[in-house]
Amino acid sequence: MLDKRILYAPADEENRRALMGELFLKYPFLRKSCIGESLCGREIPMVSVGEGRKVLFVCAFHGMEWLTTLVILRFLDELLEKVYKKGFFCGIRANMIFRDRMLCVVPCINPDGVEIAIHGAKSAGEYCESVCRIGGESRWQANAAGVDINHNFNAGWKALKSLEMKNGITAPAPTRYGGMSPESEPESRALARLCRNTSFIRALAFHSQGEEIYWSFGDYSPEIARLQGELLAELSGYKLSEPDGLAVGGGFKDWFVETFNRPGFTVEIGRGENPLQVSMLDGIYERLKQMLIISIIM
Ligand SMILES: [Zn+2]
Repeated sequence: MLDKRILYAPADEENRRALMGELFLKYPFLRKSCIGESLCGREIPMVSVGEGRKVLFVCAFHGMEWLTTLVILRFLDELLEKVYKKGFFCGIRANMIFRDRMLCVVPCINPDGVEIAIHGAKSAGEYCESVCRIGGESRWQANAAGVDINHNFNAGWKALKSLEMKNGITAPAPTRYGGMSPESEPESRALARLCRNTSFIRALAFHSQGEEIYWSFGDYSPEIARLQGELLAELSGYKLSEPDGLAVGGGFKDWFVETFNRPGFTVEIGRGENPLQVSMLDGIYERLKQMLIISIIM
């Protein structure tokens, strides 16, 4: 079990570093790499384990959605403990899983946004003033430039932009402004580069909230994606959904599906108002762990 004082606290940069440090100490076979840096120069680490076909988990696209990081780091800890002790996880022999699977986890793709949402504009460094000018720092979802990372990918871009216009979103904002061009931000560029350089068989993007799983993007979703989505929904009790309105296009999952024609899922964890509270961690984790393990091996 990870240090409870840190696991049950908002997943800011310091706490993420502490939790990952613990994981590396406990599990020497866990590997660390860095996929890039945020606008404010914060490192964007990735942890990976296993050999073979690669599955990607990405957490915390949005500032207030750091509970996704805690759920996945906790999952990693409990799963790796079973691997280490040659035990079973949800009835599956844990050390068999990683003979033909590599799990790659980016615990936080938007480290500046999370820091702003938790600690305020002062954590945005040289972007502090512009964050203050934009306003809404306590409800911050974007990166330090006021660009929503999950609206900054090259999928359905024109449609997304005209929808933004219709909704009066024309400039940097705490949420839902997609930027001047796709991949204009270092965070989305880092993630896109990672996916172009690594052949992932599927990707799961974790957000909060809504207890929903989104699986499709236009005509690009492979047939198997719906079946896999149905399985993930069945195992978690979450609803299998198709996006509407501003949630269409520009998202990482959309881009992944369109670019690689492989299954990509957005998982909206929990239910309530963002940021979801740490007291919800246990319930959300227990409900998702079986779905998470199957999402690696299916
Ligand atoms: Zn989100």
